[in-house]
Parts: sequence; structure tokens; C-alpha cells
Amino acid sequence: MTPVVKDSRTVTVEDGTVTVKGWVQDIRNLGGISFLILRDRFGTIQITMPKKKLDPTLFESITSLPRESAVAVTGEVKESKQTGLGLEIIPSGLQVYGEAAAPLPLGVVDKVNAEMDTRLNNRFMDLRKPEVRAVFELKSLMVSLIGEAMRANGFEQIHTPKIGAEGAEGGSTLFKVDYFGRPAFLAQSPQLYKQMLMSTGLDRVYELGPAFRAEHSNTNRHVTEFISFDGEMSWIENQSDIMHMIERILNHVLNGLAERGGRQLSVLGKEIRVPTSPYPVLTYEECLRMVREAGLELADGEDLGTEGEKIIGDIMSDGGHDLYWITEYPEEAKPFYIMEKEGTPYSFSFDLDYKGQEISSGGQREHRYDVLTDRMRKKGLDPGDFGFYLDAFRYGMPPHGGWGIGIERLLAKVLDLPNVREAILFPRDPGRLSP
Ligand code: ATP
Repeated sequence: MTPVVKDSRTVTVEDGTVTVKGWVQDIRNLGGISFLILRDRFGTIQITMPKKKLDPTLFESITSLPRESAVAVTGEVKESKQTGLGLEIIPSGLQVYGEAAAPLPLGVVDKVNAEMDTRLNNRFMDLRKPEVRAVFELKSLMVSLIGEAMRANGFEQIHTPKIGAEGAEGGSTLFKVDYFGRPAFLAQSPQLYKQMLMSTGLDRVYELGPAFRAEHSNTNRHVTEFISFDGEMSWIENQSDIMHMIERILNHVLNGLAERGGRQLSVLGKEIRVPTSPYPVLTYEECLRMVREAGLELADGEDLGTEGEKIIGDIMSDGGHDLYWITEYPEEAKPFYIMEKEGTPYSFSFDLDYKGQEISSGGQREHRYDVLTDRMRKKGLDPGDFGFYLDAFRYGMPPHGGWGIGIERLLAKVLDLPNVREAILFPRDPGRLSP
């Protein structure tokens, strides 16, 4: 007998007898014979129970198990032409670890999809569905692939504070917290800290950490807490250095997902279209023209918005491009730390859009102290409030730039998920603070 031992935690074999552990997915009683479908993270296995051949107490115990109970079944493995695995188990023992209450808050194998709210309220049960879990297995793989690509390109992983006294870009999207009686804020990005590090010799850094945004927007792409993949690199010549780096990293991630995430992608019925470099570059002005030609009225300098981004996405997709850059945004629309393109109303900045949605923004930073403080004043900010940040610019700051990518937005686009919440285990939005 050669049982399929998929994982030593879920299947153990001794003297021709196996023990399999998992959840009771289904029980079917067909008179003289009953079947238990047991599920673990890898799939299902059939436990076959011919009534006459089984100990009556064991038969009764197994067939009366509530769905989704956590159990171990011991028995003999037999070849079977009737099952997908090509084998079945004739049980000789049962151990119940956790009996499931009834009714279930959410069906695991129901054909009808439950509402998003019901699913998120019962996420532990929702995640028992292979197609829901596959998203998070791919997310875990994605994070490893990012780490690989960053190490290969000489980046150090950093961790910056998530509680602080000042925000990077103004106050409206900051969550205020009480810090021992003093006002403090949750970090909306690691922007100031990663830039300060550019003056230290940690020339290339990246962070994967939470970013908090007090945005009261209920859209399918905004949440109040997401994982931001930030990178910053110094001694750059221009912003193309950063864009090339992002392309190298993303190509490694997308290739890696396609190559190593095959099982999960097939559970989801998805294929990944790996992009070829260089990605096309559009300027903001070109985008404005394309959007206007499609009939959307946008003022000069106005944000392209969800609708504008979608129009561009459709045009690019027709040309076979999922990923493309939008560069040269008006400097007015960009934060103080972005470098202006001197003598023009534009900036050295870019967005990276993926299938009609922004997944990243970045650019070259202003490293010259005087110009930076001027830009702060122009934006109505008081340089005096940014002392700890500005000091790092007073003693030799190299030219640098970087980016921020929301990894859930990236994954949602890779997998064509309809909502960024599908890529977050326990999402936070204006209406959801628990579980
Ligand atoms: P948008 O205009 O789409 O709201 P933004 O301009 O506020 O995005 P940035 O501050 O540039 O976004 O953040 C960089 C990246 O972080 C975005 O491209 C996106 O991938 C991600 N991101 C930003 N805000 C959110 C959010 N509320 N929920 C999920 N991801 C986000």
C-alpha cells in the first residue's frame, strides 16, 4: 500500500493504517453505505463506510458528525476508481478534536455566494474555502518574492515607527491617538523616515508594513489600513532609475507567482499575464487628452480619478498592456517632497497603473534643503514642524527617490479580484473595526 502522504501534519501512516486529520466537509448516507468527505488545506479525501462491515458505534459516531467538525480518522487505505484521488479510507477509529456547532454561520461548499459582510464577519469560516485561502497563500508568496527581489538588488529591509508626532502629507487623513496624554498619529506612510535614511549610507531600503489612512471613502479600492511596500534608493541620476527598478522587482514577483503559485492559481481559475519591460510611459497631459477624447470632462491639472484611470486602462489593455506609467504630474498635485521639473508646471513623479487602477506612486525627491523648505512653504506647511526630517537634509543628502505600492491593490489586480478587501484577511474600513 502506498498512501499519498501529503503532509506529515495531516496524514500519518503506521503498519498499513493511516490517520488523516481535517474538517468534515460532507456526509452522505446511501442506505447500506455512507461516505465522509474530509478536507484539509490540500484537498479532500473520501472515507467509505460499508455499514455491515463497520463497528456500529463507530459508524454511528462518524455519520452523525456535524459538518465542519475538526476530526482525525484512522483506517485502511484502499484503491478506488470512484474517487478523484484514486483511493479511499475504510475507517477503524475516530477522534473528535472540535465538534462544530450548527447551524454554520456560513456554508463552506455552498454554491450560492454569501454577501461580503457575512463573509467578513465570519472570516475564519470563509477562509476554509480553498479559493478564499488561495488568495492569502499567493499573498504570502508575493511577500517572499518581493523580499527575494529586494535582496537581489541590494536593498535592506527596514522597520519605521507607526506612531509619531507628525504626518508626512498633512493632517486630514491621519488617525489621531492618545499617546500618554499627548496627541500622536498613526503613520500614513514611512515617507519621512525612509528619506532620512538616504543620508546614512543605507542607500537602498524597503519596508513592508501597515499604512493607516483616515479616508472616509467606501470604495472597492480603499481601506483604512493596508500593507504598503515602500522602497527608497539614493545616488540616482533621475526618476528612470527608480522606474527601472520597480519593473525589475514586479517582473520577478509576477513571474514567481506564475511559476510557483500554480496550484493556487488553478484553484482560482486564473492565469497571470507577465509583462515585458519596458512598460509603456504616458505623460499626464497625454492621459488628459485620451480621457477627454473619450468624453470625460476634466479640468487642467485635475486628478484623472477612478473613471479617467479606467478609460486609460481600457485603451492600454486593447494594446496588450496591463502595466504602464503615468509621468509628469503637475507639481501642484504632488506633495512637498517631490522634485519640481524646473521651468515647467510639472514634477519628477510617476504613478504606476495596473489594468486601469493606480497601484503605486513615486518619484524623485527634492534633496536640496533650501528648495525643499521653499516647497514646504509653498504648500502651506511650516518647515519648523519638520525639524527632525529636515536635519537629515542639512549635512549632505544625496539625490534619491522611491515609491509606495499597496500590496493588496497589486494582488487584487493580479488576480482580478473585484474588491481590495478580498486580499485582506481582516479589512478595516470606515464601517468595519472588527473582527
Ligand atoms: P488613491 O488616489 O487611489 O486614493 P493615493 O494617491 O492616496 O491613492 P498614495 O498615497 O500615493 O495613494 O499611496 C501609494 C499606494 O498605496 C497607492 O498607489 C495604493 O496602491 C496604496 N494605497 C493608498 N491608499 C490606499 C487605501 N486607502 N487602501 C488601499 N491601498 C491604498
